[in-house]
Amino acid sequence: MEQKDLREWEARCIQEEPPACRAGCPLGLDAKGFVLAVRDDNLPGARAILEKSMPLAGLVARMCEAPCEQYCLRQSLGGSVAIGLLERMCINAVPAKTKFLRLPPRPKKVAVIGAGPSSLTVAFDLAKKGHPVTLFHLPGGPGSWLCKVPELVLSEGVLEEELQRLAGLGVNFCQVSVLGEALWTQDEFAAFYIGQDDEYVEGDLLKLGVPDSITFSLETERLFTGGLSVENHKYRFITDVSQGREAAVSIDRFLQGASLTAARVDLRHGKTNLYTSLDGLQREEVVVPADGLGYTKQEAIKEAARCINCECLECVKRCVYLKEFGAYPKTYARRVYNNSAIVKGNHQANKFINSCSLCGQCETVCPNDFSVATLCLDARRTMVQEDRMPGSAHWFALEEMRSARTEGALIRHAPGKDFSTSLFYPGCQLAGIRPQQTLRLYGYLQELDPATGLWLDCCGAPGHWAGRVQEFDEIMKELEEKWHEMGEPLVLTGCSTCLQMFREHLPQINVESVWVLLAEKPPESAKACAPMALSDPCTSRHDSKTQNAVRAMMEKIGQSLTPLPMSGELTECCGFGGLMQNSNPDLAKKVTAARVTQTSSDILTYCAMCRDQLARTGKPVAHVLDILFQDVAHPASEASPSISERRKNRRQLKSQVLSKYHGEQPKATEDWEAIALTMSPEVAEILEERRILEDDIRKVLFHVQQQGKVFVHGESGRKIASARLGQVTFWLQYTETDGSFMVESCWSHRMIIAGGSA
Ligand code: SF4
Ligand code: SF4
Ligand code: SF4
Repeated sequence: MEQKDLREWEARCIQEEPPACRAGCPLGLDAKGFVLAVRDDNLPGARAILEKSMPLAGLVARMCEAPCEQYCLRQSLGGSVAIGLLERMCINAVPAKTKFLRLPPRPKKVAVIGAGPSSLTVAFDLAKKGHPVTLFHLPGGPGSWLCKVPELVLSEGVLEEELQRLAGLGVNFCQVSVLGEALWTQDEFAAFYIGQDDEYVEGDLLKLGVPDSITFSLETERLFTGGLSVENHKYRFITDVSQGREAAVSIDRFLQGASLTAARVDLRHGKTNLYTSLDGLQREEVVVPADGLGYTKQEAIKEAARCINCECLECVKRCVYLKEFGAYPKTYARRVYNNSAIVKGNHQANKFINSCSLCGQCETVCPNDFSVATLCLDARRTMVQEDRMPGSAHWFALEEMRSARTEGALIRHAPGKDFSTSLFYPGCQLAGIRPQQTLRLYGYLQELDPATGLWLDCCGAPGHWAGRVQEFDEIMKELEEKWHEMGEPLVLTGCSTCLQMFREHLPQINVESVWVLLAEKPPESAKACAPMALSDPCTSRHDSKTQNAVRAMMEKIGQSLTPLPMSGELTECCGFGGLMQNSNPDLAKKVTAARVTQTSSDILTYCAMCRDQLARTGKPVAHVLDILFQDVAHPASEASPSISERRKNRRQLKSQVLSKYHGEQPKATEDWEAIALTMSPEVAEILEERRILEDDIRKVLFHVQQQGKVFVHGESGRKIASARLGQVTFWLQYTETDGSFMVESCWSHRMIIAGGSA
């Protein structure tokens, strides 16, 4: 990934954009963080947030007119959160810090003229940065304008406390009889701030002209001005404070010879790109203080709890995988970028990259179409291309694909035909998981159209998901060639993943879901059972035609469907997609469990892999074929076939088709296929977890029989043998009695033992 790609990815995820309240605060205060700290009864933390953004927080928190509230997203659901009152409660409840960090002294002196809100802000901000500040004020004293503020807003002693803070920061107060031009022409100062929120000699301010609206600098170098709000401005106090803050930034830059304008932006006035969903939120009325004046702590906590914690996270809320890695796509994009930038060392994001199911739900729900699937798939491709993909990440799925494309593959016209009007393409999962139903469905399709051929193969999805571009492209080429050879008929798929692969990568092939055809004419044997929740496979997300066809077919049959929250375009992965189950089996289990707990009904699906995966949780899950063909229906509670059974099923299906439809005798079995195995259910489970096939064990034993090399335990007679099959070395512990083999354990690795014979 290039840096510009990273920027593009990051820009798409707007989770870090400010909530409306923060965007509406002229000081950019983290209002959400503050409100949530109050909600959590963390008043010291809340005060710390105020101090971080406010100059003279004791004054500002009490005096601010809270323009942020007009933008609060809670507004339409009971009224804006009363941020102003919460700030007042917090500042009254928590004493101020006595010590302030001041940067080391700087040499150039600044004159701050006037003692209104903007001038006090400039003095505070510049003094904190280490600039020597002299504040010129009228005889009434700095902050004398505050005498009109009612006691309940500004209690006695607050002003003194804040002025002491300024003095503590080294601000020098200088009383003058008038404020006027003479003060901003003194030579000893390097810069002047003229706070217009005070009283000046008539006419002098007019001579200054109009300042720049962002930097508050005047045409005359060294002069800056602010505090320009008109008297009846609704938010006069905080606007003047914010002008003082911007002017202080400019003065600091001016004194350091830096650009006044670089990276400066105008106030946001509540504008933000942050998306926050209000779906499902209930109306809650604003908490009114019992004394009509200000909140008690308990009232404040209750009011703060009305905050809806504005954030996007639309994708994370729904995706178990995105939650699992503890952040959100903007951060993930950076992790993926860093991962690709590491030449040597630990590629920590490998797991993240290989765990995505590539289901595309994130892109569907994201207001900016952020596709984590594309991010991860691109990263996988790069890893493969740069030879950085761990060999173990997807090897079993790729081996399955290769086996389905060779020993399980077959393409034929219907018996007695030399053409096909359509080819039934069940997909390798349906063929492996439900071989008898596949055959039954093929028979029915032939009843509908005797010129329906059969195409047993794998669509290459595992290669695509694993980022194996070259292998996948070759598969696409081969599939296309076969389709041409068969006379370019319509392809009817029984698997939504195959359909997706064909549509996206072989658009020249006319392809349709077999369920669309069956919706027109369901078999007469179809029989409804108890209501079930229909789970759409994630690869059908954008295929509303197939989704609707399955629903229409169920309606025709009289099968009632109960609602499943995440369906149709929002449907979720079963835990198999994107090879998640291969690279992160623990996470896949969580994904599957989350899916089945969304309904108390039994589940119905039209994807064999979904049926297999979801049923592993113990939840009753039926395939639509169980409803369509009662004579070959499987119970919804039936356990899923093992990986060894699936492999065998594909071979047997091919043999059955050859003998039943074409009168051909299947190819003689390999020598090792005759080896008889027994094992306990516990060992069978271990094999399943370690993705070791019974065929692999047979091959090891056959190898041992040929080579005669085996370790034998002197006392127990147990044997240990190994053989390297392709990239993987298998080890086997077993006992042998009268030519029959009892498997006790088996494990595998991809290492090569130097000098070893395996
Ligand atoms: S949906 Fe996800 S990726 Fe999209 S903006 Fe929100 S947090 Fe970011
Ligand atoms: S609901 Fe909370 S986070 Fe959202 S704008 Fe209002 S105060 Fe801010
Ligand atoms: S699993 Fe699906 S929703 Fe989650 S990140 Fe991957 S593609 Fe997006």
